[in-house]
Amino acid sequence: MCSTGVNFVQFSSWEGSGNQDVDINQIKNMKFDSVDDARSFYLGYAKGNGFGIRATNLDHDRKGRVLRRKWVCDKQGSRREEYLTNKDRKRKPRLQTRQNCKACFSIGLDSDTLKYSVRVFMDDHSHKLATFREVSSHRSHRNLDEGDYAQIDAMGKNCIRAFESDSQAAISYLESKAFTEANFYCRFNTDDDDRLANIFWRDSHSLFEYKCFGDVLVFDTTYKTNAYGKPLVLFVGVNNHSATCVFGAALLLDETFTSYKWALTKLMDSMGSKHPLSIMTDGDEAMRQAIDEVFPNCQHRVCGWHVARNTCAHINGPKKSSAFRSFIFDHIDEDKFDEC
Ligand SMILES: [Zn+2]
Repeated sequence: MCSTGVNFVQFSSWEGSGNQDVDINQIKNMKFDSVDDARSFYLGYAKGNGFGIRATNLDHDRKGRVLRRKWVCDKQGSRREEYLTNKDRKRKPRLQTRQNCKACFSIGLDSDTLKYSVRVFMDDHSHKLATFREVSSHRSHRNLDEGDYAQIDAMGKNCIRAFESDSQAAISYLESKAFTEANFYCRFNTDDDDRLANIFWRDSHSLFEYKCFGDVLVFDTTYKTNAYGKPLVLFVGVNNHSATCVFGAALLLDETFTSYKWALTKLMDSMGSKHPLSIMTDGDEAMRQAIDEVFPNCQHRVCGWHVARNTCAHINGPKKSSAFRSFIFDHIDEDKFDEC
């Protein structure tokens, strides 16, 4: 049995329209152990909802302990009047980015509990919020330095061999992707010996493509084509150019109902619970049961390529095979098929 997974990617909002897991009253009642925890929360909230943040007011006591801290939307305030009207300016003015936005988040230290509680949370923005593709351009969400980028780049180029174990390397690589790519999604769980069991991931482009072309989902497993003999599940579809698009991928512990159900559940979690209308598989029984459980209202069909392959293997004679193929792909009635 697999133990509960560790979720390290916090931002999985649907097209920057808001983190639907958190409501405003919940936020107003939150408590934080530290200022850093509060900042991490608001930064994640801002990223998931399509805006950037800046730190402003800071009060602390004589010992240096922070008593109050406030963050505002990065479009808070406005440029000073004298700057806008200065005719002696030598340089071209930078783009006007401040839009008098009032959205903010502030915390204060409770002397009894020594925890920080939320004092003010305002979420009304005076401007259009960024989409999931745009939000990474905000300064507050570009928090990696050059060294971090170089390391991530090297990890990709060297197939992340610098790490002790391949599992740890894979997780570290995906974690670094989550830091550099808005809406990147990854989940994994571990077995009883704390070893990696199942891992699912998809990038922001997959999210976009699934939203556009996710009505038909092909759930395909490749067998023993990697060094670990683990099944690699690919969730794929077809776009408007008849080209294949990958919606997500999972490396699973085994080919059981439990593993397939886990992968499908994570796919749905990553895609805002948008169910496909039809799903195609190779007819595997465990896969079929998992689909029935996760998508009870979805049309489940067996992939035509697998049917055609089985036809060749089990039906004798080219004439019969050809007729059977017509039976699947063309219009042909039962009587005509029986005559063949
Ligand atoms: Zn704002």
